[in-house]
Amino acid sequence: MKISRIDHLGIGVQSIDEVLPFYENVLGLKCYAVEEVADQKVKTAFIKVGEVKIELLEPTSEDSPIAKWLANGGKGVHHVAYAVEDGVAEALVETEGKGLRLIDKTPRLGAENMMIGFLHPKSTAGVLTELCEPNK
Ligand code: ZN
Repeated sequence: MKISRIDHLGIGVQSIDEVLPFYENVLGLKCYAVEEVADQKVKTAFIKVGEVKIELLEPTSEDSPIAKWLANGGKGVHHVAYAVEDGVAEALVETEGKGLRLIDKTPRLGAENMMIGFLHPKSTAGVLTELCEPNK
């Protein structure tokens, strides 16, 4: 696979409204999009930092994966997302072929019309890793 950059850092929060003032008023950054991803039961807020984005993830339901993560003591950075230039589907096949555990065997649609796939943290030194590319 060909990775060109970190696309975004996913940060799990109880409340986007509570943490957004830190990013906007203290760091002087701007939230440019808020989007609900029904599939993952999260509300997302995107903040641009140069080429990289911060994706704030707030659970919209108690059975949301983010709600479970927060309930289990999760805090701060939830995942790192890499931009794949030559196909997330191919990258997932390649990764599985190298013996890694996957969360997604095939890409699914995420926020910002991106195709995404997660690698299991058990295979990535504890870092939940997302591969993503724009949906064509
Ligand atoms: Zn993400």
